[in-house]
Amino acid sequence: KVVCVTGASGYIASWLVKFLLSRGYTVKGSVRDPNDPKKTQHLVSLEGAKERLQLFKADLLEEGSFDSAIDGCQGVFHTASPFYHDVKDPQAELIDPVVKGTLNVLNSCTKASSVKRVVITSSMAAVAYNGKPRTPDVTIDETWFSDPEICKASNMWYILSKTLAEDAAWKLAKEKGLDIVTINPAMVIGPLLQPTLNTSAASILNFINGAQSFPNSSFGWVNVKDVANAHILAFEVPSANGRYCLVETVAHHSEIVNVLRELYPNIQLPER
Ligand code: NDP
Repeated sequence: KVVCVTGASGYIASWLVKFLLSRGYTVKGSVRDPNDPKKTQHLVSLEGAKERLQLFKADLLEEGSFDSAIDGCQGVFHTASPFYHDVKDPQAELIDPVVKGTLNVLNSCTKASSVKRVVITSSMAAVAYNGKPRTPDVTIDETWFSDPEICKASNMWYILSKTLAEDAAWKLAKEKGLDIVTINPAMVIGPLLQPTLNTSAASILNFINGAQSFPNSSFGWVNVKDVANAHILAFEVPSANGRYCLVETVAHHSEIVNVLRELYPNIQLPER
């Protein structure tokens, strides 16, 4: 079977490509710069890559950019998305690439008659930020949607981008009759395959690299390998549908620092 992974060089996507290759899939991966070894070397050296991985150049902001990567694929995993919080121009840096990019990818899928299902990497960011109380007795689940107005009021631009993109994806899928499933992970951590650091892994490494304090907040956390495998199940299991929230555990940042303290007793870690 042939599948496409957009943003193939990313943290989650690299594990996804690795597991897809090991399951015998032929993978068409999109990257922005196929000539940058930092983005491609770890992918082309994966087992099975020589025979079954093809890399394509594509940019979220260019219409039709994903056509050749998606053509002929039965499954499409759309993971590409800028993920960072320190933005100067939220519209240009986040909202446009994430929302227009998702629609670009889905439009390419509608043009390719081979595509049976699209698995989109959404986020708990598109689920949990809606002003509803989040006390310990409350269960946040896939029926929740983040509220764009609340995101805007608090300058939560990355969260806004994921919320708007998922909403736009469901609308387009309904209109065009596309079979989509979304994967909505919490903070993803675990080993890196790529040489560059992504935002969620960096949030842990910052503590080791001398951060002076940790945020007084709790997050959901989930392992990157589980997230990659969930994407594959969402494609392979015919009855998979709707949204899947992925949270392995909820922990306060102080608990994360305590785990690091046990693992690295000689490293200076923030006290509060
Ligand atoms: P990374 O930062 O490691 O990867 C992001 C990918 O997006 C890169 O491969 C990058 O491509 C691609 N990308 C960014 N901008 C563009 C663009 N304009 N055109 C084409 N490609 C682009 O991210 P993660 O692996 O952490 O995240 C992957 C997905 O998972 C994202 O959709 C993110 O929102 C979602 N997610 C992540 C979580 C986490 O904790 N990590 C939690 C929940 C959801 P290139 O390398 O070619 O530049």
